[in-house]
Amino acid sequence: MKLGDRDIRGLLVDLDGVLYVDRQPLPGAAAKVAALKASGLPHCYVTNTTTRPVATLAAELHELGFAIDAQAILSAPMAARNYLRQRGSPCCLLVLNETVKADFGEFRESGTDAQAVVIGDIGEAWTYGLLNQVFRLVMNGAELIALHRNRYWQADGGLKLDIGAFVAGLEYATGRTATIIGKPRREFFEAALQQIGVAAGEAAMIGDDIESDVKGAQAMGILGVLVRTGKYREAQLLRSGLTPDLVLDSFADLPVGA
Ligand SMILES: [Mg+2]
Repeated sequence: MKLGDRDIRGLLVDLDGVLYVDRQPLPGAAAKVAALKASGLPHCYVTNTTTRPVATLAAELHELGFAIDAQAILSAPMAARNYLRQRGSPCCLLVLNETVKADFGEFRESGTDAQAVVIGDIGEAWTYGLLNQVFRLVMNGAELIALHRNRYWQADGGLKLDIGAFVAGLEYATGRTATIIGKPRREFFEAALQQIGVAAGEAAMIGDDIESDVKGAQAMGILGVLVRTGKYREAQLLRSGLTPDLVLDSFADLPVGA
């Protein structure tokens, strides 16, 4: 497939804001997912979504009409589990919702002597008490691990504040830098490329987040493609000072199966 002036042999595709917004499929997205699958072009769905385990996410995608299997998805919580294993499975404080926590059952949990704090989306469960607990653990030497540090995402009623704000606040107060697990972490993109067996220079990343998706991919030599759906705002793109390699109106405009 030709994208811009590059021959693309593999695709990395973001989910939220690219295929759907607030669990509503975007026009033409399901047909394009099917066309992509039929084309045989290696691809992997890479998501910073931290509210559902991959199996649940795949089941929901099927309900929305997307023919996407769990094996074709790489998620930030999966990558976090691998990261913790590599770190010798430290005792953790898991700031994750209950469904996702179930996938972290192998790690011992403690609110007082955790050596790692793992932060994901917990919606409105944030409180001063919880933030202070995380703050104290990190001050005592625990590693601050964030599944991502996205600033915001597009929901039904407009943009919504994402966990990046809490992560940045904790970094500010503790003077420590969080380990970011999902996009734009280099290792996350590397794992996705490995999964599809394609080199960075022959891959494209398609997403609605100018920083996590586009900038992160470009830093790896992956073609960065921005879609004008989801959280995309022209003003934000201009303010970012970043230049996507290509901008598409939507995922449905991807030249595959056309
Ligand atoms: Mg997105």
